[in-house]
Formats: sequence, structure tokens, C-alpha cells
Amino acid sequence: MAVLISVLVQTPAHSGLVSALHYEHPRELPLGTLVRVPLGQRETLGVVVATQDTDSLPEGTHLRPIAAVLEGLAPLNARWVELIEFAARYYQRSPGEVALSALPPALRELNSTQLARRLQRTKTPAAAQPQAPKAQTSAVRPELTDEQAQAFEQIQSEPGPFLLFGSTGSGKTEVYLRCVEALLEQDDSAQALLMVPEINLTPQLEARVHERLAPRWGSQAIVSMHSGLTPAQRLRSWLSAHSGQARIILGTRMAILASLPHLKLIVVDEEHDPSYKQQEGARYSARDLAVYRGRLEQARVILGSATPSLESWQHSEPATSGGKPPRYRRVAMPSRIGLGALPQVRRVDMNLQPRQTVFSGVLLDAMRERVRAGEQVLVLLNRRGYSPVLHCRSCGWKSECAHCSAFRVFHKIDRTLRCHHCGLTDRVPRHCPDCGDADLGMLGRGTEMLEEQLAELLSGLTRPDGQAVRIARIDADSTRLQGALEQQLAQVHAGDVDILVGTQMIAKGHDFRRVGMVAALDPDGALFSSDFRAPERLFALLMQAGGRAGRDAALNRQSPSELWVQTFHPQHPLFEALREHDYPAFAQQQLKEREQAGMPPFSAQALVRAEARQQEAAQAFLNAAREAGEALLSDMPGHADLGPGEGLTLFAAVPMSLQRVASVERAQMLIESPSRLLLQRFLTQWHPILHSLRSRHRSVIRWAVDVDPQSI
Ligand code: ADP
Ligand code: ZN
Ligand code: ZN
Repeated sequence: MAVLISVLVQTPAHSGLVSALHYEHPRELPLGTLVRVPLGQRETLGVVVATQDTDSLPEGTHLRPIAAVLEGLAPLNARWVELIEFAARYYQRSPGEVALSALPPALRELNSTQLARRLQRTKTPAAAQPQAPKAQTSAVRPELTDEQAQAFEQIQSEPGPFLLFGSTGSGKTEVYLRCVEALLEQDDSAQALLMVPEINLTPQLEARVHERLAPRWGSQAIVSMHSGLTPAQRLRSWLSAHSGQARIILGTRMAILASLPHLKLIVVDEEHDPSYKQQEGARYSARDLAVYRGRLEQARVILGSATPSLESWQHSEPATSGGKPPRYRRVAMPSRIGLGALPQVRRVDMNLQPRQTVFSGVLLDAMRERVRAGEQVLVLLNRRGYSPVLHCRSCGWKSECAHCSAFRVFHKIDRTLRCHHCGLTDRVPRHCPDCGDADLGMLGRGTEMLEEQLAELLSGLTRPDGQAVRIARIDADSTRLQGALEQQLAQVHAGDVDILVGTQMIAKGHDFRRVGMVAALDPDGALFSSDFRAPERLFALLMQAGGRAGRDAALNRQSPSELWVQTFHPQHPLFEALREHDYPAFAQQQLKEREQAGMPPFSAQALVRAEARQQEAAQAFLNAAREAGEALLSDMPGHADLGPGEGLTLFAAVPMSLQRVASVERAQMLIESPSRLLLQRFLTQWHPILHSLRSRHRSVIRWAVDVDPQSI
């Protein structure tokens, strides 16, 4: 007597939100069992989600049999399956897609025999993780400061989730490590997940975690999970976490979906960082899933940041009398320890500078002084390449990309024009392609040009040892090669670099000890961006960047560290708050604006994006979807009785701000509601309608829903 088994598989995108496919098998299989099943002509990996008898099936139903059961691998547990099903529902994807994307790719390719061999190998000590990089910090456990001790106590004694609001260098990482230690001491199977935004930041944390925890629990107990690992390494980490052997998992956003049968603690470091949001497939927020998973697993959750997301800040706002208790418990650590004071903020009013000034005189003088004193300087500009636009002075031609609504960037290093969106690259023309004139000029500057200009402006400048000043650059171009970033960072740490020019890559996390000064050259764009989150991002970036300065207290005693900002809007409230290092004031002002405008966190949003060869076609699909949505709303009980702005609003389709990429036109449509529940209910009913609409809009190449989008 065969049974019917429901299996999650990665189904083709056009099949909609199917929940599971059905197969038959001679016996029942536990929930979460990994199996190989036939799908069309191929065989694929799947996860068992239900078993029932075949009696209920209509007469003559033909089920294909399960091809193989992955023996030797414990089933994924019910909580993992629930997490996947929640994520799929919430982010409007099929559970099969989410489940399979959460499993290591190598697992999909192995048959049962190969898998058995792998499993054998992970059990032997020879499979130890590659040696972790050497830590710069010492492994001795420092005595906790009063603030740290209080934070630690509170986190141990209350259920959370916690928002650990601590300045850069306030010792948040130390608190995380103590919480991990305490947990592993108490419970000898418990697992802790430590998440960081980017791989970029893992080597330092990895080293620190190894130094601290490996002597006690063994280096086998610590694994990493991020996209920089080889498929074999990823499989090994995953298997180790799934088996419970790994007790400490360090990872980027993908780690939130790992199988962690004994998960008891989740730390989300730099919780405000946009890279916690997945940008393709199921566009999940690993931070938000961490909070959900914490509840599911009864695990403690700590979100940490010096500049929390406004969502988390709002959710941790202490209750006013009679109000609901806050969703997160806020734990503050305002003081920087072992480090100097936070940097002094200096604003240079660019209105008072000669036109076209790149480096103001005062800024250059300050840089010179720092270098002469043997300190390092970080120069921040969020634009890579040499110049963002090349143009013809006689006819006005500009270096537009043929395939995108963007300019191609001039890279002097290899004399190319490169599109940063589609990659289209050509040699720089000697003459204008339109009129043949040789008078080509540049508009604006990128990091490559800055590096060159600084070398000229500071020629003759020497360090205390009499050597010439050394200038380096770190951005996506300089770090394209595997290992390049690590090598460049090591040079900065070793003091081989005096002035480091770079994009936001240099602002995050790095513990540069000798930086006395950070300069943001041109931050104004974010003040007036069409993306309402731009100011929040800028504030976080500048606070983070400033946090790189003055990390060595001894340095600080000679002259306080500084954060310089060149701006045309020196009185802007954002810079006023920055000057005081006053995140709460900044947050309050931003939240007030958001509340008045009914924007997140006071409303929930979703975006539908569509792509087609023609902008009209993309918009036509979205506007048809909107019409169908309006009809759906008028049928939803009670919706008609809601006042304006209380229900759900479907906005008209508009071109995306980067309208065309690689010859594909892009459009989007915003859906907003003060009620997250209503938005969810609506999306769930609307999604199948969109699927069927698509078949009538054949020119649409792709479409996708983005729930809680991070950029508009
Ligand atoms: P954050 O994560 O908040 O930026 P860290 O935990 O990295 O801060 O701490 C900043 C620096 O202070 C690190 O070099 C760390 O080793 C050191 N540190 C942290 N806690 C203590 C402490 N209690 N006593 C002495 N030094 C500490
Ligand atoms: Zn021309
Ligand atoms: Zn392009």
C-alpha cells in the first residue's frame, strides 16, 4: 500500500506559487526528509512536507515514485519548514523556491552515495575548517565595563528581542561574545548564529571569534556561511550546522535560512545595513526573519547598531503610559571604551569656496597636518571610476550607454568607458563619435581621479619618517580580484598607507587603528534624493565612517579625531544631528516626517516591478494589475468603509529611476497600507491574478513583487 508524499521542489518560475508536488512511496517519510524526485525529464532535490494515504485520491490518479531518500541525513525539523513556509508566504514566492535556495547548491547535485561519503568526511577531524586569519585583538577576556555588564545582564534576564544601541566602539561585539559564551556554557547542544552584513566584514569577526571561542569549544565548533565560500566549503558548513556539530555560525544574510536544529541565540550586527535584504528571488530581509525565527525557535535575538534602522528604532520606542509595550527592548551603550572620544565634526561650507572646488584649502591643510603627525586619513566619495561622464565640448555628445538610461563611466586606468549597469565597455574614443571633434572633456569626478588629484596636491608632503606620502584607493574596481581586498586592507592596517581614498566600502566595520581623520567630499546628493531612505543611509554611513577615526586613544590625546563634511547645506538638520553624534535626534526628526507622509515604519509597502522591451508594455501590465487590484479591494469585506489613507492604496505605474538596463525597460508600482495585515491579505489574493494576467501581457519579460522594498 503506497502513501502519498508532498514534496517541495524548485519549480519553474512560470508555474506560480504552487505549494508542493505529489509523489508516491512505499512507506511514510518524516516531515523534512530530503529526497530526490523526478521532475519532467530530470531528477531533482526536494523536501518532504506532508504524508497522507492515497485513498483520498481520485480513481486512476497516477503518481510518480520518489527516486531516492537521502539516507544518513537527519530530516530538517518542523521549525525550519515553518520558517520557510512563512518566508514564502510573506515574500510572495513559492515555498519550494525558498526551501531549495536555502539548501547548499552542492547538496542538489549529490546522489545518495556521494552524500554518504561527504557525511563520513565531515565526521573526521581532517575536515577542520581552513585556518582562520590571525586576530589583532588579544584573546584575553577584558573585564566588562559597567555599561557592558548592564547590557549583558539585561539580555540574559529578559526575553527580548533586544535592540543593542551602542556607539561605534562601545563594545557591542564583546557583549555578543559574552552572550554566546554564556549560552554554550549553560546548554551543551545550543547553537548561536552571528550575522554580519557583508563578507567583507567577516575576516575580522571570524578571527576574533576563533581566538575567543576555539580554545574552549574547538575550531570545529565554528563555521562560516557566506557567498564567498566554494560550493564544497558551503556544503561542509551547512552539514556541520545541520548535524549540530557547529555551535557558532558566522554568516551573512543567507545564514538565516540554514538548518540549525538547536538554535538559541541570533545576533544581527549592524542591523540597519541594507545588505540584509536579498535583492533577487525571494527578496527577504534577514533581519526581519531573524526576529520571526527567534520567536519560532524560542531563541534570543539581539539586533545591534550605532545607527539602527528607523523601523527598529520605532519598534523599540519605550511605551507611553497606557500604550502597548514596545516590540523590542532597547539597551543603550552610549560610551566608547578603550577608544578616544567620537570625532569632532567639521563642516566646510562649499558656497564660500571657489566654484568647482574639489578639496577645500582648509581640508587639505588638515590632511597635511595629520600625515605629518603619522596619522592616517580616509577620504570618502561614493562614485568609482575616473569621471562619471565624458562629453564633447563642441556638440554636447555625452558618454551615454547604448543599452541603459545611464552614462558610461570613464576609467582612466585602462582607458575605457564602462557602463556600471550592463557592463558595456569600449575604449575611450579620441574624437567625438558624433562630430569628430577632439575636444572631449569630463563632467564630475570619481575615486580614481581623486586619488590622482591628491597625489598632485600633496606632492612634497612627507611622513614623520621622511618618506613621501602614500595614497591608496579601495573600491569595487581595485578589489575585483579574489583576495585583493584583504591584501589592501592589510596594507592599511600595517601603516603602509597614509591616505586611503574609497567608496563606502572603506567606511564599514574595519578597525583601523591610526585613522585620525575622515573626510566626506560630496555627500549632498542623499539630502534631496527621491528615495526617502537616502538621508537615513547617509547618516548611518557618516556615523560609521566617523567611527573609523580616533580608535586609538593615545592618538586622540595629541589632537582629537575629526570627521570633515564638505557641503552646500551646512545647516541641514542631518548635519546638525551628526555634529552632536545625536542619532536619537536625527531619528526623531526623520520619524516625524515619515509619520506625516504616511511612510514606513508608519505604513507597509510592496513594489511590483515589471520589465519589457517597451516601457509602455511594462506599464500596461502594471496598470492592468492595478485595475484588478482595485476590483479585488472593493470585494474585500470592510475595505470600502475605510477612510482615505486607512485602507490600501495602489499607485499608478511609473518608470523606475534607472529606467533602462541592458536594453530592457523597467517600471514599478507601489502599494501602501498603514496595515501590514491588510497588505499581506491583499497580496496573497492578488498574486494568482497577476500570474494569469501575465499570460495576456506576453511582452513582459519578468515581473516580481518586493515586499518591504528597501529602495524605491
Ligand atoms: P563595537 O562592536 O561596539 O564597535 P568592539 O566590541 O569591537 O565594539 O570594541 C571596540 C574595541 O574595544 C575593541 O578593540 C575591543 O577589543 C575593545 N573592548 C571591548 N570591550 C572592552 C572592555 N570591556 N575592556 C577593554 N577593551 C574592550
Ligand atoms: Zn561632438
Ligand atoms: Zn549599460
